[in-house]
Amino acid sequence: MSQQGTINVAVENIFPLIKKFLYSDHEIFLRELISNATDATLKLKHLARIGEASVELGDQKIEIKINKEAKTLHIIDQGLGMTEDEVQKYINEVAFSGAEEFLEKYKDTAQDSGIIGHFGLGFYSAFMVADKVEILTKSFKDEPAVHWTCDGSPNYTIEPADKKEFGTEIILHISEDETEFLEESRIRELLTKYNKFMPVPIKFGTRTETLPKPEDAKEDDPAPTQEVDDIINNPTPAWTKQPADLEDKDYKDFYRELYPMQFEEPLFNIHLNVDYPFNLTGILYFPKMTQDLNVQKDRIQLYQNQVFVTDNVEGIVPEFLTMLRGVIDSPDIPLNVSRSYLQADGAVKKISSYITRKVADKLKSLFNDDRKAFEEKWNDIKIVIEYGMLSEEKFFEKADKFTLYPTVDNEYFIWDELMDKIKPAQTDKDDKTVILYASNKDEQHSYITAAKAKGYEVLLLDSPIVSHLMQKLETSKENITFARVDADHVDNLIKKDEDQISKLSDEEKESLKEIVTTTIADSNYTVQVEAMSSDATPFMITQPEFMRRMKEMQATGGGGMMGFGNMPDMYNLVVNANHELVQEIFNTKTAKKKERLIKQSVDLAKLSQGLLKGEALTEFVNRSYELIK
Ligand code: ADP
Ligand code: MG
Repeated sequence: MSQQGTINVAVENIFPLIKKFLYSDHEIFLRELISNATDATLKLKHLARIGEASVELGDQKIEIKINKEAKTLHIIDQGLGMTEDEVQKYINEVAFSGAEEFLEKYKDTAQDSGIIGHFGLGFYSAFMVADKVEILTKSFKDEPAVHWTCDGSPNYTIEPADKKEFGTEIILHISEDETEFLEESRIRELLTKYNKFMPVPIKFGTRTETLPKPEDAKEDDPAPTQEVDDIINNPTPAWTKQPADLEDKDYKDFYRELYPMQFEEPLFNIHLNVDYPFNLTGILYFPKMTQDLNVQKDRIQLYQNQVFVTDNVEGIVPEFLTMLRGVIDSPDIPLNVSRSYLQADGAVKKISSYITRKVADKLKSLFNDDRKAFEEKWNDIKIVIEYGMLSEEKFFEKADKFTLYPTVDNEYFIWDELMDKIKPAQTDKDDKTVILYASNKDEQHSYITAAKAKGYEVLLLDSPIVSHLMQKLETSKENITFARVDADHVDNLIKKDEDQISKLSDEEKESLKEIVTTTIADSNYTVQVEAMSSDATPFMITQPEFMRRMKEMQATGGGGMMGFGNMPDMYNLVVNANHELVQEIFNTKTAKKKERLIKQSVDLAKLSQGLLKGEALTEFVNRSYELIK
């Protein structure tokens, strides 16, 4: 529901505006306040290190507390704190003008879904959930502590306080309609969502830890316990470390930490680490893929300086890699813009192509380092690679060095090896190299056997988008063509040095064609009488490569091919004029017997393609019993 009007971002009405604009994403206030607490903690650490703050740091942590009676939520840090002047400046002026600027800038686009959640409104987002906010802060500098209070009107009060330790406590008086943020479970959920990997330990309550039993304890004695801080985050997640300091197990452990509900181990990982010309770290994992492309999206999590931002990385990570899992952390990804703008952003483009390159390099080194292991994983990763080859030209070029083409006998070739193997033996009449393939070893068994008997290589290409990939290869590689083993008889697909001499004359072939056509009386079948070798099958049903592939591509979403889906399946019935049985049929005098032989043969050909069904199948079975009686 959008309303028209001019938004006057004056101080008096900023609070209602914040509430209104940020309606759907109230929960981000906690992320913002914890980010501020983290900044303050890390800043003090830095100052101490360079000798500009002489304080005893200890184990700095951030604490989140709920006080149900008082209806308050507390965010407490041991960071650098603020003096009174600093509260004036950073809270009353900076944070305020930040909020004002934000609303001014995004008043038109703020309703655009997804933007708000990706843009920190900073400290003032506290007013989305609280009708009164207090700051209790003491600077690490030797100055009195300050108590700032603001009830949501533009008026605030500042007074001295007696806080002893440096650091800041933010107290939110949660408003009536936001009481969910006083629930332990809700806060815990938010902490795990946004702060699981933030760099400063975050304490949320305590938990009971079981200690080892003392040596002299009796068997029935309960193990001693103690209350310890419940730290909800891992401040040093694997991606923030150097690859050299990590072992395979660390990567696997981190995967488990990221996806506690995933029981399957990842196949391998890619550690991303770059600081120029943009900053990006992360770990990507290749999970075992299923054939379904859609179920696996939105698994990569995007962070900025260890703060969770989103798990929708569309536009940032190349489309084909959204099937992967893992983490990307980059402060350089602009999030306060719409998705379409993101894709046009120069920095984001660089990030995206860097990731693509890293993934390609990793795949290549996996292939080079242990080809056998790579081959074993091929089935689980091919869909990502094939998808990448189709959608990213750069990836397509690199992929030649590691994309595998498996044969029906589980031999794996890369492109150049495949070419060496089949050239020049497998050539069609246009002198193109024919790559024979099967999509299903069982269904196309007889065709595969026939092709192998001739010494040809038959690939097994069975992923759902492979027809698109073949199309792509046919247009970018020179002089090659793909043909499924049942697209035609191999003798027609692949040119022979010498043509078979036909045992039937052209006239005889023509008349045989007519007899067969009238006998089967089915307009979906085109009869073709060919002179092939006498040991080839007498009758064979094939489906033209072009037609079948167009249909497949349309089914998996290839543009510009409308219409093919509605066409009936068209087949060729190839009759081998040189086969003994065909000769016999042709020479049979009685019309009845001739018809019966043709029907029986064609049904056998259909049967081997799985095309004989229903009544036709019943008739065939009955007829067969009659014949052997
Ligand atoms: P930002 O974090 O983008 O600077 P915020 O509105 O979140 O904007 O915060 C405004 C400023 O208030 C911060 O830059 C910081 O100087 C100060 N500030 C906020 N929270 C704290 C804190 N917990 N400790 C110290 N200073 C803080
Ligand atoms: Mg902030």
